[in-house]
Amino acid sequence: MTITITAAEKRYVSRGREIRALQPVDLEIPAGEFIAFVGPSGCGKSTLLNMIAGILPLSGGEIRHDGVPVKGINRAVGYMTQVDSVLPWRTIQENVELPLRFRGVAAAARRDRVAAMLAKVNLTGFENSFPVELSGGMRKRVALAQVLIYDPGTLLMDEPFGALDAQLKLMMQAELLHIWQATGKTVVFVTHDLGEAVTLASRVIVFSGRPGRIKAVENVRLPYPRDPFKVRFMPEFETIYGRLWEALAPEIAKGEAI
Ligand code: ADP
Ligand code: MG
Repeated sequence: MTITITAAEKRYVSRGREIRALQPVDLEIPAGEFIAFVGPSGCGKSTLLNMIAGILPLSGGEIRHDGVPVKGINRAVGYMTQVDSVLPWRTIQENVELPLRFRGVAAAARRDRVAAMLAKVNLTGFENSFPVELSGGMRKRVALAQVLIYDPGTLLMDEPFGALDAQLKLMMQAELLHIWQATGKTVVFVTHDLGEAVTLASRVIVFSGRPGRIKAVENVRLPYPRDPFKVRFMPEFETIYGRLWEALAPEIAKGEAI
């Protein structure tokens, strides 16, 4: 689904003081694109995702999702927030079917869809396990299944693989690329890992330090399907990584100086 962001900005008021989180942002994300947001901590990346998801009002400007202005919760997006929403006291089956329950899907249909989804994210056989019994990577796959189960046209992902070790991260990236290519969903992916952004996205947006604004835009012309294990050894990868780092490094340094 197409996301059209027009002069979207955000100011928070906290204890009577105004914090400018995001300067007016203009960005058109065509349907089916895999776009990545990078930027120093606190530059408003999560804020922008929250506004696309409709869980945070804008202070100015407008966001449209498939042409429709986002006002209130946007049910056409699947949102993997920075802190995942896997409930520790529910089994994997129950966790993954929860969004379907909310949408009133009947029990038999829920079981079928959960089974198909768990197969897709390689979790078949863990239906009756509890999250605490799973590894970090498996838990992430549960969180991914939770948003994919209702087949949203757009996926918002906020540093979803940040806490994983390097190898596991590459495997999750491969799985995500596979799902994206198979479904044609629009993906907006926030990461602090430049390599991850270049590996996954067809376009990378670099935000400045707070209040965030778009500082640089890089098209990643590496062909899909991409193998996250191999793509980093291509010359094009290095070139883009270098350009992104040039845009990003001063922004991080500014933040450090405060
Ligand atoms: P990022 O995800 O890029 O690290 P955020 O979008 O979380 O950044 O935050 C951007 C800025 O807005 C930060 O300075 C943060 O402290 C501030 N901020 C975020 N949420 C709130 C809030 N609810 N109230 C006040 N300030 C907030
Ligand atoms: Mg954030």
